Amino acid sequence: MKIPVFFLLFTALTITLFAQNNTISQVSQVVDKQAKEANKTYIDLHQNPELSLMEVETAQKMASKLAALGFDVTTNVGGHGVVGVFKNGKGKTILLRTDMDALPIKENTGLEFASQIITKDFDGKEAPAMHACGHDIHMTTWLGTLETLVKLKKEWQGTIVAIAQPAEEVSGGSNAMIADGLFKRFPKPDMALAYHVSAELPTGTIGYYPGAIFAGVNSVDIKVFGQGGHGAMPHTTVDPVVLASRIVLDIQTIVSREINPVHPAVVTVGSIHGGTKHNIIPDEVDLQLTVRFFDMDVYRHILEALKRITKGDAISAGLKEDKWPLVKASNQFTPPVVNNADLVLSAIKPMKQFLGNENVVQVEPLTVGEDFGKYGLTEEHIPIALFWLGGVNKAKYQDHLENGTLLPGLHNAAFYPDFEPTFKTGAKAMALTMIHIFNEK
Ligand SMILES: [Zn+2]
Ligand SMILES: [Zn+2]
Repeated sequence: MKIPVFFLLFTALTITLFAQNNTISQVSQVVDKQAKEANKTYIDLHQNPELSLMEVETAQKMASKLAALGFDVTTNVGGHGVVGVFKNGKGKTILLRTDMDALPIKENTGLEFASQIITKDFDGKEAPAMHACGHDIHMTTWLGTLETLVKLKKEWQGTIVAIAQPAEEVSGGSNAMIADGLFKRFPKPDMALAYHVSAELPTGTIGYYPGAIFAGVNSVDIKVFGQGGHGAMPHTTVDPVVLASRIVLDIQTIVSREINPVHPAVVTVGSIHGGTKHNIIPDEVDLQLTVRFFDMDVYRHILEALKRITKGDAISAGLKEDKWPLVKASNQFTPPVVNNADLVLSAIKPMKQFLGNENVVQVEPLTVGEDFGKYGLTEEHIPIALFWLGGVNKAKYQDHLENGTLLPGLHNAAFYPDFEPTFKTGAKAMALTMIHIFNEK
């Protein structure tokens, strides 16, 4: 008997669609069942935030939860970092990352379970602590995704490398984990995935960008020297206040006149300090800058231009080489997060099937920093993809659209995500994406 080709194709398509729908409903059921427990975990993490480099208890919690799920767990990787490995037959290795640290902010959400924590930061200074960047929802969603994948391990084959990273906010955690052998001591990932909760997108949505989604960031200090003296006799001095003011204006031309306009960059002087009194011309003035860029060549150009322009201004003020300004880039450097376009476009396929095309949206890149980019910049050349996970309560989002009500952004004392829909969307979409990638030929 001859079976028409279109019939075979139709049958194959039906089976595939059925399998996809079946996976979606399985994943949904597993995540929905976890939501209550996950909420308890979330509240505990939210109430007990720990600052960067101080994530001792948070790391213990992540380690014990991973162990309970059957992961092979290693702690203290690059400081308080936790690595869990789950092997499930032959296949790809996917790294899934969460961060763990909170911010020195006094919480002002009005939540019943708001953080009351006053703690010590890494330098021993007393500070409040709050999960104002949503790393608590990252951890909860990460655990939810992992639990789902373990429960549905018959649906996929491969290896999960789950990492809970410390010190994201001070941009040292990913480097420390890499330096401590993340890609050498554990199975080398074929790709790395992560979420950041969004304070702009409503729950039930995911934002993606197939390219550089977050800027590279660095702080730069400029010390401007002069020759101090009496404010009444400026002609006997070289006034560093005037010189620093000139420098602030002159470096505005780096972005506006030197960088190709199709490559966005920012040079901001956030702080200027010098002098003690009205009638004393000081010896020096300190400038503190932040620079942002999406391309490493642009960064190198900005640094070179800062040195050239400050030196030129110092020469024009009559200063000799021993008093040319010192330009020092911080070693807390954060590279741009450059998403791998192929990986992003493959990952959003199952997300779109699950959430609908209209709820998986391409977003604009932002000039904030995220140290996830470092995982993609090692000699292993691991493709990375970071997605925005919508966290804004739907009613508040509607009010924002209709009445212009302001939404508290990330790092705001009033920020918190709408837990349940954020968690459910996040865990389901990431589990589906990982199953899709594991099964993709
Ligand atoms: Zn942050
Ligand atoms: Zn963050």
